[in-house]
Amino acid sequence: MEFVKGQKYLCMLAPAFAAEFEYPEIVYRLRQLGFDDVVELTFGAKMVNIAYYELLKESIEKGEKKTWIASPCPTLVNMVRVKFPELIPNLVPVLSPMGAMALICKKYYPDYKRVFVGPCITKKLEGQELGTIDESITFKELNELFKLHNIPEKVTDSKYCVTFEKFYNDYTKIYPISGGLSSTLHYKNILKEKDILVTDGVANVMKVLSGFKDGMYKDYKFLDILTCAGGCIGGPGMIGERSVKERTKKIHEYREFASRYEQDLGRTGKKLMVEDINFERKF
Ligand code: SF4
Repeated sequence: MEFVKGQKYLCMLAPAFAAEFEYPEIVYRLRQLGFDDVVELTFGAKMVNIAYYELLKESIEKGEKKTWIASPCPTLVNMVRVKFPELIPNLVPVLSPMGAMALICKKYYPDYKRVFVGPCITKKLEGQELGTIDESITFKELNELFKLHNIPEKVTDSKYCVTFEKFYNDYTKIYPISGGLSSTLHYKNILKEKDILVTDGVANVMKVLSGFKDGMYKDYKFLDILTCAGGCIGGPGMIGERSVKERTKKIHEYREFASRYEQDLGRTGKKLMVEDINFERKF
């Protein structure tokens, strides 16, 4: 991607970044590259969780016998659309964290070009479909840009280690790990653990979707499934030098670090800030 002089650019960074890059150096490096501001998707993920909770609660209270399928993964959504169209009504009609955060940033950064940076290739298609993302690049592509522009990995002067802008939510930082959505859903009042099926990887997802079509898995109320092995941290746009186990560890370490040291930076991320935004999505 190229940065046009006079145009402002906002980087919307997927939380899987912590498995590949160091924080807070990454924010400084992105600014050096040409981004004017950098936000995490985690506040968007929190809003997605709230919308999921409300939808599941309403469905259960109405007594609906329905198995909802989490829809943040565009590869899964495409798979359902193409191979299992009868399951389209089961997809949760809520935006992905990227889609939700794009609407939030449209409100708070109206004159910026919004660029999604993450581990996923099919997010490029989702971005085009939604029309709220100006460009999407992968971590691999970002790393190439860092190399091309000679931006060093380490920032030695701590005054340059700037943090993320505006929004904050620590618990959704584990979203890119398989089961991250359901484990941050705070579902105890509406669902039991046995009501939720968590799985990842194309073969497992295909097995569930075909079995579901044949009448299996219907006792589950919620399928939290992602098509990459290990979740988004196993995405094709990751740089890929660390194992999935190491990536998982890095995500947990970052979440732990953030919950200890980032709370008091004056950033927020409250529902009140986005009360006027509708996070629904139609499939
Ligand atoms: S699981 Fe893979 S394909 Fe799905 S959203 Fe995550 S990175 Fe993209």
